[in-house]
Amino acid sequence: MSETVIFNENSSSAIGTEPWNALKKSDPEIAQFLIDELTRQRTSVQLIASENFTSPSVLAASASVLTNKYSEGYPGKRYYGGNQVVDEVEDLARNRVTKLFGADHANVQPHSGASANVAVYQALLQPGDTIMAMRLDQGGHLTHGSPASITGKTYRFISYGVTPEDSDKGERIDLDLLRDLAIREKPALIVAGTTAYSRVIDPIPFREIADEVGALFMFDAAHPMGLIAGGNHPNPVGVADIVTFTTHKTLRGPRGGAILCKSEFAKAIDSAVFPGLQGGPLEHVIAAKAVAFGEAGEDYFKSYGVQIIKNAMALAKGLESQGFRIVSGGTENHQVLVDLRPFDKELTGKEAQEVLDQVGLTCNRNQIPDDPRSPFVTSGLRLGTSAETTAGMSETEIGTVAELIGKALKNRADGSVLNEVRASVKELCSDFDPYPPGAPWPGYGF
Ligand SMILES: *Cc1c(COP(=O)(O)O)cnc(C)c1O
Repeated sequence: MSETVIFNENSSSAIGTEPWNALKKSDPEIAQFLIDELTRQRTSVQLIASENFTSPSVLAASASVLTNKYSEGYPGKRYYGGNQVVDEVEDLARNRVTKLFGADHANVQPHSGASANVAVYQALLQPGDTIMAMRLDQGGHLTHGSPASITGKTYRFISYGVTPEDSDKGERIDLDLLRDLAIREKPALIVAGTTAYSRVIDPIPFREIADEVGALFMFDAAHPMGLIAGGNHPNPVGVADIVTFTTHKTLRGPRGGAILCKSEFAKAIDSAVFPGLQGGPLEHVIAAKAVAFGEAGEDYFKSYGVQIIKNAMALAKGLESQGFRIVSGGTENHQVLVDLRPFDKELTGKEAQEVLDQVGLTCNRNQIPDDPRSPFVTSGLRLGTSAETTAGMSETEIGTVAELIGKALKNRADGSVLNEVRASVKELCSDFDPYPPGAPWPGYGF
């Protein structure tokens, strides 16, 4: 068995010594995979914009006996007995999140961001209704009408996108187009929110257009919800009718989704989630969501958000100085969208991702606006700074990361340079370990 310890194995702070020791004995195969994954996370740089490192408290709550409980329904209205404690947990999660964002009502049961979106569509719309959302190849999510998603098969989607690169404010959401389309197509619902877009999304113009055409307005804040919690981005709650989000991206909680809405939609949203879409809720994850909502309300979460954005700006600047083009000319959130073509027109997003993976710089390929290559190949990369900011990196280290990205991609055919980069990555990671053994928790950056 490897010497690597998992989540400070010798303290009771994380998943605890006892369950972990029991797992090592009873199922060494899975235990070894957990050690391997922990080692991967500790020894490579995590630049996937939708990922983060949760606190050990979030891990502890999600690895708990709440997983044993069936609790179909909602607090005070359950279908099974024995839900006294679970009711307290779910109520606390709902109260914390409504207070954090100033919402009337919360549903914390969606298993994921995708389930949250589907539940909203189901609550508000009829099959065949028109929804306006961001183009998938310009930053929209699969649940914004991909033909491969149940959303695209069930509703009629009209897409807006970003302004052209050469316009005076290039590659920003095209609000003029959005308004023209809305007036022409009379959507029942307008969706704001993106999965690959590095600018602030102001909810107000969306609200105005929705009001002008009599549409409902949903803000999908899957990515920026942590920045919103810290007051770093405008809060769409109260402006939009419904806000959906994931709890595991910048919000740094367990993998999952949630919905906030005005009171008038509470009943429809709750019945769309259960029994409309899901069965029993994952109460262990809901407990972990409550922990994350508590953490996001702490003062340090504001400075965490500020540092995420500073780091993303430093990353954009560092990459630009090496000849990459940054989509939209920079960033105002945790993301940097990179156009690889000016750096090397032969280099695809797919190859870049694979080379960077080899050297421990973990990221994903992504289409850029008007990408001539397919979504599987792409001409771009999407990078994010939320995870490594959690691990404590600031602009200096992020500058080093940018240099290492350039070095690896420039020398991608040279094994010895790639080995050098891998060694530098490991060294950097040893100083910015998200789960350092023996650390007092939270023992990292923020
Ligand atoms: C990540 C994301 C989702 C979906 O979240 P999952 O938890 O992966 O289902 C939905 N919408 C947007 C805009 C996202 O970025």
